[in-house]
Amino acid sequence: MRPEVLNPLFAETASLKGVGPGLARPLEKLGLLRVRDLAYHLPERFVARRAVGNLDEATVGEQIVVSLSVREHRSAAGRGPYRIIAEDVLGNFVTLVYFGRAAFTAKKQLPSGETRWVAGRLDQFGQSLQIVHPDHVSTDSAEVLGSLNEPVYGLSEGMTLGRIQGLVQQALGGLPALPEWIEPGLLERTGWPEWRAALGQAHKGANAEARDRLAYDELLANSLALLLVRASNRSRTGTPLTGDGHLRARLNLPFELTGAQKRSIAEIEGDVAQGAPMLRLLQGDVGSGKTAVALHAMLIAVEAGTQAALLAPTEILARQHAETLTRMAAGTGVTIALLTGRDKGRARESILIGLIDGSIQICVGTHAIFQEAVTYKHLALVVIDEQHRFGVGQRLLLTQKAKRTPHCLAMTATPIPRTLTLAQYGEMDVSRLDEMPPGRQAIDTRVVAIERMAEVVDGIGRHIAAGGQAYWVCPMVREQETADIAAAEARHAALKDRFGDTVVLVHGQLRPEAKDAAMERFALGQAQVLVATTVIEVGVDVPNATLMVIEQAERFGLAQLHQLRGRVGRGSQRSTCLLLRGEALSEVGRERLALMRETQDGFRLAEEDLRLRGGGELLGTRQSGDTPFKVADFEQIARLLPMAHDDARLLMERDGGLASPRGEAARILLYLFERDWGVQLLRGG
Ligand code: ADP
Ligand code: MG
Repeated sequence: MRPEVLNPLFAETASLKGVGPGLARPLEKLGLLRVRDLAYHLPERFVARRAVGNLDEATVGEQIVVSLSVREHRSAAGRGPYRIIAEDVLGNFVTLVYFGRAAFTAKKQLPSGETRWVAGRLDQFGQSLQIVHPDHVSTDSAEVLGSLNEPVYGLSEGMTLGRIQGLVQQALGGLPALPEWIEPGLLERTGWPEWRAALGQAHKGANAEARDRLAYDELLANSLALLLVRASNRSRTGTPLTGDGHLRARLNLPFELTGAQKRSIAEIEGDVAQGAPMLRLLQGDVGSGKTAVALHAMLIAVEAGTQAALLAPTEILARQHAETLTRMAAGTGVTIALLTGRDKGRARESILIGLIDGSIQICVGTHAIFQEAVTYKHLALVVIDEQHRFGVGQRLLLTQKAKRTPHCLAMTATPIPRTLTLAQYGEMDVSRLDEMPPGRQAIDTRVVAIERMAEVVDGIGRHIAAGGQAYWVCPMVREQETADIAAAEARHAALKDRFGDTVVLVHGQLRPEAKDAAMERFALGQAQVLVATTVIEVGVDVPNATLMVIEQAERFGLAQLHQLRGRVGRGSQRSTCLLLRGEALSEVGRERLALMRETQDGFRLAEEDLRLRGGGELLGTRQSGDTPFKVADFEQIARLLPMAHDDARLLMERDGGLASPRGEAARILLYLFERDWGVQLLRGG
């Protein structure tokens, strides 16, 4: 049970003053369901604005506050944005640009003929000045001028900056006092503030100590939870599995396994033969052939008369895995089923029955395969495909809940630096696929200036005319998700104008059915160009797609670029990756793109990424989207995780039952970061 002291933090955001039904969806989209989430919704950056009398006083790119008279509204043409033309006191025109539903609010806030104070970033678009999604619009100069220095938060459609600032303040006002879980010596050395003060400071300004403390808390919670899983795992019994090899002998793979694959399979075979449940990580770069290893592992379980399950992070990937495995295992007579949250009615029933009576031997799916209603006859092996997410811990819990703990194989394509592997994965045993299947051609990687866009599009034309397929990746970088989606939609529309229906679009806001339909058309070769934002899972395998264009490649981290690029070069044909770069390249950006050209070794890129990011990037451009951490960013993970992991291990050694006062505080920490699955294991023994 959650400690009572945390109750105010876990109250729903709906309980705060001023939160009506209209804010429910915007809050949900941001993942801000509880007061806690708001307190931890840390500013992406702090903006310092300058009040200017007129636009001549401002420079392009500057954050300003200015008084404007509204002249004219121009509604969206097709998919274009809504535009409002306004004028400063000197008669300079500026266009206020709104995407999506934000236009509704803008219409009300900015009636023609009226004067308003507007705060936002002045941009130039072609010959004209514009402000995209102003941060504030008000009749009250004091209100706008009072926020010249303010925290900027991630927003969603229907949520304004002012609104979220107010909600965060409310959340911070009700923070309880919590006991200290950080070791006193460490606090002394670092000078970190206590928890409540740290949260307050982190929302006020770019306070490095406060943010480090909060990040450290999260990392400590994660390490502790993983260590608890590990400890629990060691104390449990699994089912020793020995396969006689009869199914594996019937596998008819079109290739010879690499040495690394064979070694990994042997390691797995050794593990599952033991009474203690396996807890092994299979680490292998994109394309290194993890699926074949997983299949071998699962067949061992089936040969031994038990069942295996493969857990994929998304529906698309689950489907693709099911198809691949079914194809690979065709000769074995093994029954493989796909189970996702979307399966309903009869089809679902018959799968559930097959799992209970054992007629389905391998089940592939999303977390739906572990729902209460899903019962297995004898599940003895779980494979977790985390792709590029680090977050393995919570998934591991699923395996720990079963009566007889299944063996667990976690697969990751994230080539993380060696220094972080242990801490990141909580001391699992590791098999590395450090050898690529033979015959892979190097991906021809080129950096192309954005001005040469037209040539790139021509190149796509030639590529698809020759029967090829291509990915076009649009970045997800701005605070406004809607603006990014609009950009992807615009790119899709332009390419579609040129090449027709063979161009499809996938992004995070599409309905799952629409997303799947587009993916499927691409996978089947019915569509030749897939325009996508990075929020979509790109773990798809389409060997015929041998060209990838990545727009604004300098905005991505190396690890992310590497993951993306790994989608091409999957077949025997030579592949190309074009990194489109914007005009203003930073030193680090330049170095990153050069590295991408130079090497295809994921582990090397991971090390370099760490080095480059360690060099200190601006707040807000750091991405931790590939990690299970919400508070700690990439640089903090690199710097603080080893320390947090050591501290967690020390605490476990001294007080494995978390019964001392500091242990009690640590339990609160685990609940605070919703890693209480660790505590549950403690109770269950
Ligand atoms: P990942 O590790 O990214 O999951 P996959 O398992 O999808 O990689 O394998 C990538 C591609 O390589 C697949 O098309 C697969 O059939 C092929 N492959 C796997 N192992 C070998 C091998 N030993 N020799 C040749 N091709 C292989
Ligand atoms: Mg894979």
